[in-house]
Amino acid sequence: ADTKVSNFLRQIIENDLDKGTYASRRWAGSPGDAAHHAKGEPDPAKIRTRFPPEPNGYLHVGHAKSICINFGLAKEYGGVCHLRFDDTNPEKEDTEYVNSIIDAVKWLGFDWAQLGQAAGSAAPYQASDYFDFMYRAAEALIEAGHAYVDEQSAEDMRANRGDFGKPGVDSPFRTRTVAENLARFREMRDGQLADGAAVLRAKIDMASPNINLRDPAIYRIRRATHHHTGDKWCIYPMYTFAHPIEDALEQITHSICTLEFEDQRPFYDWLMERLCECGLLAAPSPKQYEFARLNLTYVITSKRKLAQLVNEGKVSGWDDPRMPTIAGLRRRGYTPESLRLFADRIGVTKSDSWIDYSTLEGCLREDLENKAHRGMAVLDPVKLVLTNWAEAFGSDGYTEACTQPALPHSAIAEGQTPPADRTFQIGKEVWIEREDFEEVPPKGYKRLFPSNVVRLKGGYVIECTGCARDAAGNVTEVHAKVIPGTKSGTPGADSVKAKAAITWVGVADGVQAEVRLYDRLFAEAHPDAGGKDFLQSLNPDSLKVVTAYVEPSLAGAQPDQKFQFERFGYFVADRLDHVAGAKPVFNRVTGLKDSWGK
Ligand code: ATP
Ligand code: MG
Ligand code: MG
Repeated sequence: ADTKVSNFLRQIIENDLDKGTYASRRWAGSPGDAAHHAKGEPDPAKIRTRFPPEPNGYLHVGHAKSICINFGLAKEYGGVCHLRFDDTNPEKEDTEYVNSIIDAVKWLGFDWAQLGQAAGSAAPYQASDYFDFMYRAAEALIEAGHAYVDEQSAEDMRANRGDFGKPGVDSPFRTRTVAENLARFREMRDGQLADGAAVLRAKIDMASPNINLRDPAIYRIRRATHHHTGDKWCIYPMYTFAHPIEDALEQITHSICTLEFEDQRPFYDWLMERLCECGLLAAPSPKQYEFARLNLTYVITSKRKLAQLVNEGKVSGWDDPRMPTIAGLRRRGYTPESLRLFADRIGVTKSDSWIDYSTLEGCLREDLENKAHRGMAVLDPVKLVLTNWAEAFGSDGYTEACTQPALPHSAIAEGQTPPADRTFQIGKEVWIEREDFEEVPPKGYKRLFPSNVVRLKGGYVIECTGCARDAAGNVTEVHAKVIPGTKSGTPGADSVKAKAAITWVGVADGVQAEVRLYDRLFAEAHPDAGGKDFLQSLNPDSLKVVTAYVEPSLAGAQPDQKFQFERFGYFVADRLDHVAGAKPVFNRVTGLKDSWGK
């Protein structure tokens, strides 16, 4: 395992633990109970982090980074991490997404907790459970003179916000009295104003150099049915207002997010201070920290754009094995271990950069190298006939069992029992790769050509004699003679030197399989850079389906079982379409070596 490298988040947490910044926290009751901060037992969790997805799409590899950071740090420092659905936006959310997010987090190997509970059994939190509290918080801000109902038109509001280097202009509604604001805000809540007719704004500073502090909107009117609260509300809190409150109610200590929220941090702190002054929350407040989001070459990490690929039928769904969603990576054959290793390896930084896709593939190879059983598959089959078979072994129908280890010796740790050997049959006819025969060999070619001697891996040494062709000149059969007494693992195995060993599958026991050869979904390293239309960068050859032959140990795989197809790379039995024995279907995860730079 990689040793943990320190990073700025670990330093912040260690410093807080040393100083006891959060040692005075108590918990009692449930979040949303206004008094729960002030009473109760000391919080047994040393730190609390959270992963707060909006349930408006499937999670992608960038979210996997965030999940590993948040759940990983909590685990490492004796804390817990909350899974929270940030479902304050009524329109775009769906329970399909909720379920897919739960699946993804669990699959990555993490458990969440709630206040007062150990990880493992808790339900996720839902931000919409705090709507009542958020509403109270909004009224408290109004009462303290920190918020007002603005009824400027959207255009005026935008124009009056100013710009960088240009201060904003106060709204004519900014000087309303508390009583007037309270009455108007209640009318908003009670459905007496049309959608968009008014917003509640925090009253901070229209001249602030940080535009996010120029009286940001905190509540808007939106008549929409919420997937959780139904039609109870026609006003909804804005994300910037809701998020800090969610953190505070759940007694989060370290609220870790991506860099684009850096400019929101002053408002986060402002809101915490005001709500503590009002007595709605108690110190110590959570603090926000930002890290650089994951940018991965050849990959798009925007839910909106991924949704477009799904909706326009460019891929078969959110879990298409070419998708960078966690569901897609899983179906492609990535393992939770490989994604956690990836998150560790790329680390946490404060400056944006691009990670090369090969780093992700390298982590997968590293994880599967000693785990994935080996097997032989022929992806572009042509028949090899051993013309002297009956002469050598008595009958054309004779077959003989060959065995090979499921894992190479180097993959077996000391004291570990190796898995059972694979067994497959050699007979008069076997499938070989079309590219393993050349009637006129190019220079340096060591595989089958007339008079050359090669080994059928794990079987016999053979001598090539020629081939048969159809009218169009295509090779229909390759011919060779078996050399008896040379079988792998027998005393005579080395009696005849072979120039090469080639992979093969017996006609007698080989099973036809569908093999999906996936390649990168985008042909360009930065498919959506500089506002370009990412659909133009789609790789037309991102999927090639072939009919292959596989040895029996592969045909009998369980769905989701991973293998190394010798010489071709890592493959997985498709989670959904593979049927053991009857209908084998494999996805290529990645080749044996890095080919991305080429
Ligand atoms: P998208 O832009 O793809 O819609 P999002 O940030 O809107 O993503 P959320 O559901 O709000 O999606 O994200 C949940 C968490 O995941 C947030 O804390 C967010 O910062 C983090 N996250 C999203 N994308 C990335 C990324 N590429 N790298 C690291 N963390 C990410
Ligand atoms: Mg978001
Ligand atoms: Mg987004």
